[in-house]
Amino acid sequence: MEPLPSSAPSSRGRMSADDFLLIILCSPSGAGKTTLTRLLEEKFPDLQFSVSHTTRSPRANEVDGRDYHFVDRARFETLVEEDAFVEWAEVHGNLYGTSRSEIVRAKAIEAPVPCRGMIFDIDYQGARQIRATVPDVTSVFILPPSMDELLRRLRGRASEPEEVVQRRFRVAEGEIEHYGLFDYLVVNDDLSRAFEELSSVIVAERARRRRRAKLAEALLRKGVLPR
Ligand code: ADP
Ligand code: 5GP
Repeated sequence: MEPLPSSAPSSRGRMSADDFLLIILCSPSGAGKTTLTRLLEEKFPDLQFSVSHTTRSPRANEVDGRDYHFVDRARFETLVEEDAFVEWAEVHGNLYGTSRSEIVRAKAIEAPVPCRGMIFDIDYQGARQIRATVPDVTSVFILPPSMDELLRRLRGRASEPEEVVQRRFRVAEGEIEHYGLFDYLVVNDDLSRAFEELSSVIVAERARRRRRAKLAEALLRKGVLPR
């Protein structure tokens, strides 16, 4: 697999390309990734949500280009042949993939604030593919507080017929078994508590030495931090 598109050169408001954060959020369907991602987008306007391609049909409240790029299977397969995806996988009988151009698009955003990172809402297979090519990625697995509650949430979303809910629920345990691929585990019991914990992960990741080393070096060289 080709490496991810290379980092954009340093620009105003960005310490360096090294501080660009790549965050994978993963969970069994219904555990709350989408809900948490929407909250992250509000709190961290400098993070961009990666809009995946999928062959799944849109739900009633979903908008093409905002929630997903909805495409048919033939189009998706053409994109695979063209090596357009950083990762892709079959999940619950549909194809999902993250396009390289999505990352290029996000990295080019300068207004209203420069983009300093991306959030990928992808399954464990995609997480494994990205981790294999990008060691610097931060991965978080969201756990539901119980399997009963997971089923309640899947049904409560009321966006899929019962057979789809059951299909998603049946594979949930197999997905949770892959928790070992992830750096962090966040339990989404109480939404605001889980959101606070997830936000703390992002804040802490931003303060990692490898992302801030250039600041210390500049301070030593020039006596002042770069603006
Ligand atoms: P996913 O993206 O992981 O499939 P969603 O974000 O769509 O999951 O959440 C599934 C359902 O559970 C939605 O109806 C959402 O409003 C609800 N939900 C999410 N987090 C919580 C929570 N902490 N407590 C109760 N309901 C929640
Ligand atoms: P949903 O149909 O509920 O939106 O998503 C179903 C599953 O597909 C979720 O686990 C979600 O994280 C995953 N998914 C969404 N986009 C992608 C993607 O681009 N790549 C991969 N590998 N999985 C994705």
